[in-house]
Amino acid sequence: MSAARPFRCDVAIAGGGPVGAALALALHAAGVDVVLLEARDASKAPAPTALRPLALSHGSRLIFERLGVWEAVTALGVTPIERIHVSQRGRFGRALLSAAAAKVPALGYVTDYSSLVAALDAAVRDSGVTVVRGARVTSIAHDEASARVEFVTSAGGGDGVASLVAVADGSAAVSDVEVRTTDYGQSAIIAIVTTDAPHRNLAYERFTPDGPLALLPFGSAYALVWTVRSDLAGDLAAIAPQAFIARLQERFGARVRFTAVDSRAAQHLTLRVAERVDWGRAVLIGNAAQALHPVAGQGFNLGLRDAWELSMEIKRQGAADPALPRAYASRRRIDRGGGIAFTDALIRIFSNDFAPLAVARGAGLALLDALPPAKDFVVRRMIFGSRG
Ligand SMILES: Cc1cc2nc3c(=O)[nH]c(=O)nc-3n(C[C@H](O)[C@H](O)[C@H](O)COP(=O)(O)OP(=O)(O)OC[C@H]3O[C@@H](n4cnc5c(N)ncnc54)[C@H](O)[C@@H]3O)c2cc1C
Repeated sequence: MSAARPFRCDVAIAGGGPVGAALALALHAAGVDVVLLEARDASKAPAPTALRPLALSHGSRLIFERLGVWEAVTALGVTPIERIHVSQRGRFGRALLSAAAAKVPALGYVTDYSSLVAALDAAVRDSGVTVVRGARVTSIAHDEASARVEFVTSAGGGDGVASLVAVADGSAAVSDVEVRTTDYGQSAIIAIVTTDAPHRNLAYERFTPDGPLALLPFGSAYALVWTVRSDLAGDLAAIAPQAFIARLQERFGARVRFTAVDSRAAQHLTLRVAERVDWGRAVLIGNAAQALHPVAGQGFNLGLRDAWELSMEIKRQGAADPALPRAYASRRRIDRGGGIAFTDALIRIFSNDFAPLAVARGAGLALLDALPPAKDFVVRRMIFGSRG
C-alpha cells in the first residue's frame, strides 16, 4: 500500500507486535477489513540478540491453533514446560504444578519474543492482511462514527479512516489515555544458563527477598529471568561469567548446578496500567492496556486474550457499533483486573524477607501442594486467566 493514499477500513490497528498481529489475523479470517500499521521497517523482526523469553500458556496455544499459526510458532522453536517447581529461597514450603495432573500436554511453551514476532509477521504477510510497515502512528482523532489515523513513514505521511482503532503500540503513547506506573525498584537480568544436568522440561519459580527468579526450559538450556534490585542490575549484567554464576548459585541454592551463562542483559521492570481501555472510537489491547511485571509470565498471554476477545466482540456486533468500545472494556474487566492484581500481589507478598510473612508464604505453598483443587485452580488461572 502506498503511504500517500488515504485508506478506509473497518478496523485500523496501531502496532503490529505479537498482540496487534494476532488481532489482524483473527479479524482478517472473519472477513473484517483491517489495516495494520507497524513502526518496524519492512518485515524486520526485533534484533535476535535482544533475548526476551516468553512462556506461552496452554490457553495461548489454543488461540494460536484457532488462528492457524501454532505450527509456524513451534517451527521456530518452543520448549514445553511439563512441571513447575514453586518455592522460596531458604524457607520451607514448595508446590509442584504438573501438566499431567492438569490433563494438558504442557503447562506452557517457552519461546523467544523475536521468534514469535518473526512467525506472526510471516503469517500476516501470507494472509493478505493490508499492512503498512515502517509506519509510525502519530495521532488518532475521533468523531462519533469513526476515527482518523495519521502516520509517518520514511516516504512521507499518510492517513486513513476506520470505524474502530485498536491501539496495540505496547505503551499507549499514541492515545490520550492516562497510564499509571508502579515502579518496584526492580530489574530483570535475562540470560541463557546451562546446567550440569538436563532440565527434563521442569521450570522453577523461586522467590527471593529481592524478587522472583524464574528458570524456564529453553532448548537444551534454561532461560533465566532473575528479578533483582535495580541498583544491583548493572553490576550483575557486567561481571565476569564465573562471578555471575557464583552469585546466581548462591541466590538459587543447590537444587540446580549452573555451569555457564550467555546473552546476559538487564531490563528495568514496572507495572503500567492504562486508566481505561475504551477511548472514543478506539480500544487499547496488549501492553498498551497493561504492561505487567514478568513474574508469572502473564503479560503476552493476557494481551493475546485481549486481541481474541476483541475479535469476538467485533464479529458479534460489528466494528461500527457505537457501543463496541464500552462492550469490549466491560468484557475484559475481570480477566484484566485479575491479571494485574495477581502479578502485583505476587511481587508485594514475595519480594521481602519479613519473617512472619515468609512463614505464611511457606504455609501457603505447602497447602497449595497438598490440595489438588487449589492446584487445579492456580493452573487453570495460569492457562485461561481470571475467567478460566
Ligand atoms: C523480561 C520480560 C519477560 C517476559 N516474559 C513473558 C512471559 O513469559 N509470558 C508472557 O506472556 N509475557 C511476558 N512478557 C511480556 C510480553 O513481552 C508483552 O506482554 C508482549 O510483548 C506485549 O505485546 P504487544 O504486542 O502488546 O506489545 P509490543 O511487544 O511492545 O509490540 C508493540 C508494537 O507496536 C509497534 N509500535 C510502537 N509504537 C508504534 C506507533 N506509534 N505506530 C505504529 N507501531 C508502533 C512496535 O514497533 C511493536 O512492534 C515479558 C516481558 C519482559 C520485559
